[in-house]
Amino acid sequence: MSDKATLAQGRDYLAIPGPSVMPDAVLNAMHRAAPNIYEGDLVEMTHGIVKDLRRVARTRHNAAIYICNGHGGWEAALTNVMGPGDKALSASVGYFGQGWAATAEAQGVNVQMLNFRQRGSVDLDAVADALKADKTHQIKVLLGTHVDTATSVRTDPRGLREVLDATGHPALLAMDCIASMGCDRFEMDDWGVDIAVTGSQKGLMVPPGLAFVFFSDKAAEMRKTRQNVFNYWDWTPRANPEFFPQHFGGTAPTHHLYGLRAALDLIHGEGMENVWARHAALARAIWAACEAWGQEGPLEMLVTDPALRSHAVTGLKLSGDQGTRLREWVEQQIGLTLGIGLGFAMKGDPEWDRYFRIGHMGYLNGQMVMGLLGGIEAGMKAQGIPHGAGALSAAAEVIAAGPVFDD
Ligand SMILES: *Cc1c(COP(=O)(O)O)cnc(C)c1O
Repeated sequence: MSDKATLAQGRDYLAIPGPSVMPDAVLNAMHRAAPNIYEGDLVEMTHGIVKDLRRVARTRHNAAIYICNGHGGWEAALTNVMGPGDKALSASVGYFGQGWAATAEAQGVNVQMLNFRQRGSVDLDAVADALKADKTHQIKVLLGTHVDTATSVRTDPRGLREVLDATGHPALLAMDCIASMGCDRFEMDDWGVDIAVTGSQKGLMVPPGLAFVFFSDKAAEMRKTRQNVFNYWDWTPRANPEFFPQHFGGTAPTHHLYGLRAALDLIHGEGMENVWARHAALARAIWAACEAWGQEGPLEMLVTDPALRSHAVTGLKLSGDQGTRLREWVEQQIGLTLGIGLGFAMKGDPEWDRYFRIGHMGYLNGQMVMGLLGGIEAGMKAQGIPHGAGALSAAAEVIAAGPVFDD
């Protein structure tokens, strides 16, 4: 019997970078009978949801809801503004930037790839050079990733906006905000972002299955120049439906909407500024612990410059097979699930086992982060992974100082 005894019984903690922890309020809101989809509560509720989603993205402009995951959101956003033969410029720092560009290519878009993966952050001068070289303004869209969930690099959309303005290039600025929305500060209108894509299962704390595409009036104008946008992906009726089912291109995602309503109540009840300040503080607590562990032994954060680190996910590297051994131990022995590494190696390669990620997005508080860090430290001890001392106390100092509003 004793080989079965563990410390895992109790409430599990899924600390992967999406799907994130679901609040009880979200789960409870979804636990109900099927509602009428033609009139009544659901119809009323949807108007408020669209308004409150726009408040999360910080836009007064358009919002379209799709029944799909983030990959579907990518495709939806792209197809409304570009088609075969059109040109896009991609400023990518990792796996997800590559994925979005590949989606565009599969739609027949000619993508000029700027891959900054090795450099570790977007080189704005290189983006400027590519825009300047495009004298006849063939590039219709500049694709960026706010937080690349594989590397955990954060790209400031303001930098990309400045480069577009400085070069006088009219391309739309489209940001993948799937990992970041509701975690890292994002101001769509003030920062001059034309298209923002996100999904339901990360900062928004709802099960996977909804994607949201926010778009500016300039992007809506670009849509008008496009022919052959498939009905289902067309954002025009979704954002401005004449009758209710057009919001969703068919039957509403009923239970997701109830869950989303509850999540938006949590988010706006807390306030966007406070949500961001909580994520900023909790991320710093995790970095403080990682820095202390890394003083001795192999642990390294993938992003060395704190200004480039996401507040939603932290990518980490150990050595040999330690990453996998740590993940397996904490999952089996203490009920904590950490994220796998993405985009560095394929499963089966020796490199694969070095990487792991901590998701810290959405429904997360100080005591969860302290538990998470304590769990990782226990895992390193159990697995004989050398690490520096003082990590938990460094994290506790950050937690003790409270929310961080200064970024
Ligand atoms: C999760 C994620 C995606 C993919 O979303 P899916 O819902 O898995 O399709 C794309 N981009 C980023 C930045 C993500 O974090």
